[in-house]
Amino acid sequence: MVKTSARHKLATTTLQERKARLLSGMQLSPDLVRASYVRQYLTCGKKNCRCRRGFKHGPFFYLVQCLGTGRVRKFLLKTPAQRKQARAGIAAHLKLQRRLAELSEINTELLRRGAV
Ligand SMILES: [Zn+2]
Repeated sequence: MVKTSARHKLATTTLQERKARLLSGMQLSPDLVRASYVRQYLTCGKKNCRCRRGFKHGPFFYLVQCLGTGRVRKFLLKTPAQRKQARAGIAAHLKLQRRLAELSEINTELLRRGAV
């Protein structure tokens, strides 16, 4: 990936070629998830439990999704299959996000130059 600061130095044809490659390689994963994968160690409510002495329970894995200002959706990923699916979905979303950001940068630069 070309750094943003260097993109304005590239030739228009180079940008257009990069744009074509980006578009042809862009796949919409049907399982993508916009969220975070969070690992947590927790304390329980028992008075004499080991977690009170620093040996917390876990790890527990959660999917955390921001739904807007102050609104978060969070749930425990109970099975290894759920965790694997969540990680893959989050990775697919991040990959698409990066490609969209690069496409937008290229289009912005092409627009600035008056090119297509
Ligand atoms: Zn405990």
